[in-house]
This record gives sequence, structure tokens and C-alpha cells, in this order.
Amino acid sequence: VVDRRSRNQAHGPSKLQITKNPKPKELPDLSTLKFGHTFTDHMLTIPWAVETGWGTPQIQPYGPLVLEPSSTVLHYAQTIFEGMKAYHDAEGRIRLFRPDMNMKRMNTSANRIALPTFDGVALLELIKELVRLDKHWIPKEPGHSLYIRPTLIGTQRAIGVSPPNEALLFVILSPVGPFYPNGFKPVALYGTTEFVRAAPGGTGAYKLGVNYAPGILPQKHAAKQGYAQNLWLHGPEHYLTEVGTMNLFVVFRKDGGSTFFSIPLEILMDSNFIYSGYELVTPPLDGMILPGVTRDSVLTLAREHASGAYTVPGLPEKLTITERPVTMKEVKKASESGTLVEMFGAGTAAVISPVDRIGYEGEDVLIPTGEDGMGPISRHIWTELIGRQTGTISSDWSVVI
Ligand code: PMP
Repeated sequence: VVDRRSRNQAHGPSKLQITKNPKPKELPDLSTLKFGHTFTDHMLTIPWAVETGWGTPQIQPYGPLVLEPSSTVLHYAQTIFEGMKAYHDAEGRIRLFRPDMNMKRMNTSANRIALPTFDGVALLELIKELVRLDKHWIPKEPGHSLYIRPTLIGTQRAIGVSPPNEALLFVILSPVGPFYPNGFKPVALYGTTEFVRAAPGGTGAYKLGVNYAPGILPQKHAAKQGYAQNLWLHGPEHYLTEVGTMNLFVVFRKDGGSTFFSIPLEILMDSNFIYSGYELVTPPLDGMILPGVTRDSVLTLAREHASGAYTVPGLPEKLTITERPVTMKEVKKASESGTLVEMFGAGTAAVISPVDRIGYEGEDVLIPTGEDGMGPISRHIWTELIGRQTGTISSDWSVVI
């Protein structure tokens, strides 16, 4: 792994040092697996120093890091991370899903808080080595996978807010079970107006540790009131932004019909105008939204389907896809008039997470869900995504390692 300053130094996979764990652990009982609580036998570490650039990558036994208490990460939240998964396919091969996007996003995050950037292609090769070494940890059962957590921290041994002169990149692996072991369970959200996750000009669009700790107290408040997650609303208009730690999609039905003749000509002529069919909406990447890999995948699949370039089986033909601001007022009105079709969160951990209710200004806004918890758009997109992740549907998003 090399950064821009030391691109010519050979710190890539060829320099990798591997120290095997002499005491491999017993594989976990999958029925009691709790997300993010179990780790494999090995981890990858790569040190960085301003003078010498990226040092020798090492795969070594999973275990504690040694940090001085003065380390800048412990004071100023100099930490960024990624979340991606490795899957077993039916042929016993291992697959990653669009890992290049995680590498790019991690570099964008690093740059935002003045941590060193790196060669994403080289890091991905090292991650593949690590996953191959611990591949027996990837559960084969349906819905299971190996969660991969690359992290980069500033480790300068000095108190002071500045770019660190030392950093450490590490990658750990955690076997995980299905998010919904007993079928989809729609979640209730608390429309949060008293706390913000992100603000214009802030850091919401980056995967920084600093974005997450402040969300824990609001999450506790939401849970106390009987809601599973925060629906982060922005500004006096209460724009929908994200849900918990997922991106958000809303589907509206556009009925058209007899009202057609009452629509002013300039609106009819607007290329964004939708007369009938479904509209799949997600808030735009305006600096407050994390550019999720799942978000991009949902948008790309839906757009390809709508344009006829690719068919997602079961997805309605009349589908318009828009990245635009959505207010709670619009969602509430659609819920009341029956034009709200569904709402769902999208992210690596849950893939698709249906929503059935939003607590908003003292009342509940109800959102339709299908009998099995999934809506008419998300169910087909979910099937396509899972198929591509696990290799039952071939696509160049899936990388065999
Ligand atoms: N938003 C936030 C705040 C997140 O932490 C995540 C999880 N990384 C997402 C959205 C979803 O992103 P992805 O689809 O890349 O997992």
C-alpha cells in the first residue's frame, strides 16, 4: 500500500509478511452469532509515518493494539472506517461486492480528516489475502457472510490538533448472520428533529468515526419511545436524510388519471414530471448523506431497469428514479392520500430494511408494507442484490477472490 508521496516505494502485496496464529480459535456457534462480536484468527496492519510513507503490511494474529495514551485518535477522533462483506457462493468460492467503491470512499474519508491516503487497489489485494487466510470463518449458511472492517487511525504520540505524523491502517473480520433471521421485520422510525446527524458543510458525507458517537444518545431516546431507529430530519422543512446508519428510499405512486387535464402545461413539459407509475426517490448527495454502496446499487439497478438496459424481474415497468429532497410534509400527505407505496433503508449490514411507521410531531405516520414485510419495489431489488452478492446472478459487481 503506497500513498501519493511514496508511490515508487514497493510496499504492495509482494512485501506482505504473514505470521500465522499459533492458537486458532474454535469456530463460533452460528445460532448465537451477534453482529460484530466475533472476530477471526488474523488481522491486517499497515503502519504509516510522514517521513517514510506506508510501511510493511503484516497479517498477524488478531489481538490488542498497543497505543500510547497521547495518541491523537484517542483525543480528536482521528478515525475512519469501512464496512463490506465477503460471501460464500454455491460453488464454494468467495465473493466480495463492489469492493472498489469501499476503497474509494475510504480514501475520500481519509482525505477529509487529513489522514494519509493510499493505493486502494493494493489495499484490496491485501484484504483478499487476509480473507483467503481466514476463509473457513465465512459461514456457508444462507444470509450469512464475513463482515470486513478496514479502519485507519491517527497515532501521533502528542496532544495537539494537526495532521498526525503517524497512522495505522488495520483490517479485522467478523462472521455475521442474517439481519432478519426470521423474515423481514419492518421497523418503526422516530422522526428526529431535536438532534442532527449531519449539517451543510459538515462531515455527514464521509465515513468518519466522529459521525457515529453523537448518534447513540438520540438512538437511546428513540428506543425509549418505542422506535427502532432515528429518521434524521434536516432543517425547518424537515427534509428526510438518512435512517440510523442507512441510506433512505421512498416510493410514491403517481396516479395520473382524470387530473391530467388540470395540470399546467409548463409542469407537463418539465422532464422531471411523472404522470403515472411509481417514483423511487432518495435524498441527493448534498454533502449530508453518506454515498452508500447499497444506495448506488439500488439506484443503478432501478435506472437500468427503467431504461430497458437490464430487466430486474418483477420490478414494475413504469418506474421513475429521482434523487431529490423529500420533506416529512410530502410523506405525511402521501400516507394520508394513499399514494405512499413504501419506504426502506439501504446499507451493507441489512441490505434492505423496510419501514412501517414514523413517529413525527406526536403522531405516527403509517407506511404500507406487503404481507411479508417487503414492498413492491424493494422486494425485487433485494432479490437482485442478494443474487449478485452471492453469485446466483452473475454481474461484474461481484468479485471472486
Ligand atoms: N449511511 C450511513 C451513515 C452509514 O454508516 C452506512 C453504512 N456504511 C450507510 C449509509 C450505507 O452505506 P453502505 O451501503 O455503503 O453500507
